[in-house]
Amino acid sequence: MLKYIDQYPNEIRNKRVVLRVDYNVPLDNGKVKDNTRIIESKQTLDYLLNLNCDVVLLTHLGRPKTEEDKQKYTTRHVLNYLNESGILGRKVEFLDNFDIQYEGGKIYLFENVRFFEGETKNSLELAKKFASLGDVFVNDAFGSLHRVHSSVAGISNFLPTFFGFLVKKEVENLSKFLNPTSLFIVILGGAKISDKLGLIKNIKADKIIIGGAMALTIYKGMGKNVGKSLVEDIDVSYFINNPKIILPKSFVVVDENYQNERVVDIDNIGDSIAVDALVDDETVQLIKNSNMVFWNGPMGIFEKGFRKGSELILKGLEECKGFRAIGGGDTVRFINSVENNKKYIDFISTGGGATLEFLEKGTLDAIDYILSTVKN
Ligand code: ADP
Ligand code: MG
Repeated sequence: MLKYIDQYPNEIRNKRVVLRVDYNVPLDNGKVKDNTRIIESKQTLDYLLNLNCDVVLLTHLGRPKTEEDKQKYTTRHVLNYLNESGILGRKVEFLDNFDIQYEGGKIYLFENVRFFEGETKNSLELAKKFASLGDVFVNDAFGSLHRVHSSVAGISNFLPTFFGFLVKKEVENLSKFLNPTSLFIVILGGAKISDKLGLIKNIKADKIIIGGAMALTIYKGMGKNVGKSLVEDIDVSYFINNPKIILPKSFVVVDENYQNERVVDIDNIGDSIAVDALVDDETVQLIKNSNMVFWNGPMGIFEKGFRKGSELILKGLEECKGFRAIGGGDTVRFINSVENNKKYIDFISTGGGATLEFLEKGTLDAIDYILSTVKN
């Protein structure tokens, strides 16, 4: 059983808490472009501050590889945002070493955990150093729980470990899809099918609607001409004659300059690029009539304005009375660009890879790791 912070206030009150969050926010020239993940961390943070805790925030930011990346991905960018916006309600101090001098009631933000040797290899030496920053570890980084890293998992060897409210909300909502009530529809789009094969094969869905470039990969594997569309070279035998899989029959296509937009059926792509997948009316009806829907991956290249396919999905979702959830960075960006979006969706998952892995396996590697450590 996962231990959540609200069940153990007496073990947390007045303590120094190391809080792993997911502040891997999009940056533009060092400026925070989207604060969703910061807002999502506030419930846990406020709870800890109300229990009179000092808090050291740990997060990764980007994928730093070179020395130059240290300028680009320092969490000082996040620090500046936190202090300029006042979003956490208190001043935040920066920490880039393990010699912490506590002064009561403070929030500290640690330097990017991936700047430290061993983080992504779950170095226990590093985990012990992170643990030295506090008396208790709280993990609320749902989007990172598919990674067994020092600041996510290894640290639980050295401190009593609890999960925060974001992890609780994600686990509770996504768990509904593990023992689904029929009719359960999964809608998948996006660019790459290879990322999603595990989910497709394991999720207990009645039907899986596939759009995006994924659909073109499958059609190509079936021997269809898909012109200059984006495809992957993979074995698609699972999808052939599989009654569970629903593929769109028509596509929006364009020429090489993304001009001359036309709608054609799958047998008439010619040498065009298919940029949007259009499900038929029957499929929209199916979405309307379902009891549960999970959607990941836009139906088309919505960033370039090819949104019709994704809007057809919204049409189905709008009238669906069941439980409707979405997940994935680009899918969330799409839904955030839609007006009045609350009428289409009941739950927005903040995870990308973590969300898909949770639905595939019913758990995540860092959760399993933490539950197996002696202290927890
Ligand atoms: P998410 O981030 O929600 O998990 P993905 O990253 O899997 O979603 O997929 C999103 C990307 O897929 C978008 O950038 C979109 O432009 C792209 N995409 C969708 N349809 C096509 C297509 N037909 N051709 C090329 N790219 C596509
Ligand atoms: Mg994406």
